[in-house]
Amino acid sequence: MNPLKFKEATVELKKPSNMSDEDCGSLYVCQTEKGECISVWTTSFWERLKFLFHGKIWIGILSGDTQPAIWLDCTNTVFTSAPPNTPEEKCLEKCESCEKETDFDTMEEDADANYFCPECWEELAPVMRAEYEELVKRGEIDPEN
Ligand SMILES: [Zn+2]
Repeated sequence: MNPLKFKEATVELKKPSNMSDEDCGSLYVCQTEKGECISVWTTSFWERLKFLFHGKIWIGILSGDTQPAIWLDCTNTVFTSAPPNTPEEKCLEKCESCEKETDFDTMEEDADANYFCPECWEELAPVMRAEYEELVKRGEIDPEN
């Protein structure tokens, strides 16, 4: 499983200095007033199927002999309202392709500073990459630039 960055996160916990990037990465957490440290994790389709069949999740926490009290939840979000330090106001920008007003934080930018919504980007990115590689092959673009 891999941790996700999420909008309610208040802190990025960096990996322990004695661990490699292979062993450990940053963990984004939301520190709540109750003293909880909330993170969200996702996994591949295959791992999801394994959970469906086995109904188990193994947890390893590097904290010495014991571990702090934890909870796990499979719902889409555990935040019923945004924490006070999260600005609810979204910055909207029009998608270059479908023209839908989209949360700017979720958008992708191409080499010409055009912004695309996630749906359009998913469709366009492979096409744009193929086009780009074709132009490089024909010598019309210098990949060093
Ligand atoms: Zn779009």
